Amino acid sequence: MSATLRIATVPALEALPGCAHGFEQRLGPAGWESRESGQRRVAGALASAGRLLLLRQVHGAGVRAAPWDATPEGDAAVAEAPGFLLGIETADCLPILLADPGRRAVAAVHAGWRGTAAAVARAGVAALVEGGSKPADLVAALGPAIGPCCYEVGDEVREALGPGGDGCFRPGPRGRPHLDLRAANERQLREAGVVRIHHVPDCTFCHADLYHSFRREGKDAGRMISFIGWREEA
Ligand SMILES: [Zn+2]
Repeated sequence: MSATLRIATVPALEALPGCAHGFEQRLGPAGWESRESGQRRVAGALASAGRLLLLRQVHGAGVRAAPWDATPEGDAAVAEAPGFLLGIETADCLPILLADPGRRAVAAVHAGWRGTAAAVARAGVAALVEGGSKPADLVAALGPAIGPCCYEVGDEVREALGPGGDGCFRPGPRGRPHLDLRAANERQLREAGVVRIHHVPDCTFCHADLYHSFRREGKDAGRMISFIGWREEA
């Protein structure tokens, strides 16, 4: 990959011929580039693999089907054809990438606590199943996100997650719960029938050298773009 893009990957997706994926890592400190120039940089670096499609993420569970021109509102995307890279922007939230190697279909999901409470990961799997995928055939990768080490939340988050959050909270040192966003979303995937689940388990808050973090850097935090798609056949 070019010097204009630094990414983490999972071997299980790298092993799929024609599948392009990555979880972006930061190239500079907060404020070193605008959101828009970051989007252009990543789209340019990936142009040979496909057209980068982004969403206007709203912390919900809406799924959009690629391709599109005007950026739609949504927090999950599905593509049933090669040539498109579904992109998810995060800075602590959890990016989830899904591939169906048999159908050459993909989905990408943005899951913060609100999206997790709205079952956005489940919605992403459902969109692929609607297109003909079997959950057991899917390869899922959960990327870098704020970890349970650092993700202190309020009781309203526990209430919002309900039974889906059981076992995903631990007591924090300041008396407030810490949420394991990764565990809550892995559970949703497993309940939807996905069994091939892989991780880049880094905590975005702990690793300032590698990742932007909204918790750490506030409103000036940059965004990382995670992406997945199938290259057009040569
Ligand atoms: Zn941490």
